[in-house]
Amino acid sequence: MESRNPATGDRIDTYEEDDDTDVEAALSRSMDAFEEWRERPIREREELLSNAADVLRENKRRYAELMTNEMGKPISQAIGEVEKCAWACDHYAEHASAYLGDEHHPSPPGTEVTTVHDPLGPVLAVMPWNFPFWQVIRFAAPYLTVGNVGLLKHASNVPGCALALEEVFREAGYPDGVFQTLLIGSNKVDDVLSDDRVRAATLTGSGPAGRAVAETAGKHLKKTVLELGGSDPFIVLDDADLDAAVETGVQARTQNGGQSCIAAKRFIVHEAVYNEYVESLVEAFEALTIGDPMDEATDIGPQADPELMAELHDQVQQSVDAGATVLTGGEPLDHEGAYYPPTILTGVPAGCPADNEETFGPVAAVYKVADEAQAIEKANDTRFGLGASLWTEDRERGQRLARDIEAGCVYINEMVKSDPRVPFGGIKDAGYGRELSEAGIKEFVNHKTVWTQ
Ligand code: NDP
Repeated sequence: MESRNPATGDRIDTYEEDDDTDVEAALSRSMDAFEEWRERPIREREELLSNAADVLRENKRRYAELMTNEMGKPISQAIGEVEKCAWACDHYAEHASAYLGDEHHPSPPGTEVTTVHDPLGPVLAVMPWNFPFWQVIRFAAPYLTVGNVGLLKHASNVPGCALALEEVFREAGYPDGVFQTLLIGSNKVDDVLSDDRVRAATLTGSGPAGRAVAETAGKHLKKTVLELGGSDPFIVLDDADLDAAVETGVQARTQNGGQSCIAAKRFIVHEAVYNEYVESLVEAFEALTIGDPMDEATDIGPQADPELMAELHDQVQQSVDAGATVLTGGEPLDHEGAYYPPTILTGVPAGCPADNEETFGPVAAVYKVADEAQAIEKANDTRFGLGASLWTEDRERGQRLARDIEAGCVYINEMVKSDPRVPFGGIKDAGYGRELSEAGIKEFVNHKTVWTQ
């Protein structure tokens, strides 16, 4: 396994993949660790999570540089990602006990009925490269604190991050085997997931990867949570604060080089403000600083992988061939590394790739609609259903329309973002299940009913 810097194409390091013996040893350690870990008082598990937050903060710069080197994220955003991970650890260190408290139910006189929350065992996490620390902490912080143990199969292009995450938990004082990284390719996932000792799986990534994991998990009756990306609408109504909708729209589409499942991908703009909005959006896209991701001033670094950038460009070209117009960007930059410019497409025909596929890079498809009914219809005209952002100065109108949008979350006058306090996840082809908050920590537990007569 090797990591390459997408800004230069240079090899950073090579790593020995785990072989079958290594994987067997990890599974065995995982089970041993689980037997002891599940018995620990939750207070102790919360304290260790709080230590993990400290380790993340103490090593913030080093972990951020690792991410930037391996997948090209601008350094300022990488630092923000490590800080957010520490926040998620703090959140569950403070709230896990309350989230997992026993639930008391109405019951016949003289009886007592409660639900208690037991851990399930080893959970396999198949994770992507786009937020190499956040995606992992998002699963590990809640699930380990419940008393489960974790096995991480990270994306093959971020092995350094995968090992650094193991270090975070080791340095925090977690017992051996509670969180382990497996350096394996995706072809080994089936074997691990089929093993009786693994009780559940969570995957963040593409639809095909999610379907493969869900199929194997289904065959073995194991629960899964899937977070599979989206094509989120960003709806700008006639009464929106346009300056705010431009500023946030740019960030929502281009942060992390546009490689985010919850990025705003389809801008749906009311005709009354369309010209003004699009003109300002083009101006703001063209004002972004593209360059060395290690430079604090950089807004957009390279795409994480030259092949994925070629796929993105193919989506743009096919959309242009189908009739879309490029207002800015549209061609890879003539620059060392996998650099793609912020791109805006208008007149995007229904059914072309920019319209009905996920564009995992800084490419915005912009649509003009006549009224709010058309806006909602276009927003829902997708097989995805992760998030949506809606802009209006009328809060009541926003909340009313939010109910008609088919998505796991709707943010009014704000971009879609994940937050440890709030449930996160999608519907339709965006996946199922929820991460974060109380909903997330209860995904991989046995909701055990105890009836006392
Ligand atoms: P993948 O979905 O292929 O990779 C995500 C993770 O799944 C990686 O750990 C990968 O391992 C693993 N994986 C891939 N195929 C399988 C399989 N059949 N069985 C088990 N595990 C598997 O994403 P890519 O990096 O190839 O990106 C492709 C597209 O996916 C992007 O352009 C984007 O549209 C979408 N995506 C969405 C993400 C999101 O946040 N929702 C994140 C990343 C990608 P390995 O690296 O070893 O192949």
